Amino acid sequence: MKIVLLGPPGAGKGTQAKSISNRYSILHISTGDIFRKNISENTPLGVEAKRYMDNGQLVPDEVTINMVKDRLKQDDCKNGYLLDGFPRTVHQAEALDEFLCSRGESLSTSLLIEVPTDFILERMTGRRVCPSCGASYHVKFNPPTKDGKCSVCGSEVIQRKDDTVETVQERLDVYQKQTQPLIDFYKAKNKLSVVDGTKAINEVFEDICKILD
Ligand code: ADP
Ligand code: ADP
Ligand code: ZN
Repeated sequence: MKIVLLGPPGAGKGTQAKSISNRYSILHISTGDIFRKNISENTPLGVEAKRYMDNGQLVPDEVTINMVKDRLKQDDCKNGYLLDGFPRTVHQAEALDEFLCSRGESLSTSLLIEVPTDFILERMTGRRVCPSCGASYHVKFNPPTKDGKCSVCGSEVIQRKDDTVETVQERLDVYQKQTQPLIDFYKAKNKLSVVDGTKAINEVFEDICKILD
């Protein structure tokens, strides 16, 4: 199974990706997590990506596409994967298609988690993440343990630097201009499934399973 997760920032892609990856035993690949890991290790890729991420802008296509291709060529991708945060532009989506096609592979489906803009700000500003395993929490909707630890691995959860009101607004803007066109892109290829992302986390997951089962 090869799946692309679509949806605005805060839709719940990361949250659902963890559950999907567990249930279907497929690899969860988050481009945001890969960039953040590179930033924390101060690699050249991290230094480059940080300039864009801190302002809510997209990392340039060429950098992102090459990074993802390298990742998808690795052995652990053989049994399928779930792409979370990629593609984010039509150019990236075309590059993914070409990559798959050149290997005689194809996407199973894209999965759009639909959430209207009014939900996003509260979700993003209340988000807390685990810097070790990438798990996503929310102060109100999905709190970590009482003393602020990740329920999966026990690390202290943090607030992301780009989850401020100003940056979230910028990211929403970027989403609407650059990423939203992917909905039509996948619809035209008959590769779009949609779930209502305003429901509770477990209900969204049940809806996703109905599609993937
Ligand atoms: P994305 O990866 O799409 O940016 P996340 O999975 O990190 O989104 O979720 C964004 C925030 O919203 C997190 O704080 C998460 O706990 C919370 N969240 C995710 N799904 C739901 C939901 N269905 N209802 C309420 N809050 C949610
Ligand atoms: P969210 O799910 O909250 O939108 P992500 O963790 O997916 O956040 O992405 C964080 C940031 O990483 C983005 O705002 C962008 O700067 C960068 N990024 C992640 N994926 C991509 C991508 N496919 N193309 C370009 N930039 C990306
Ligand atoms: Zn953790």
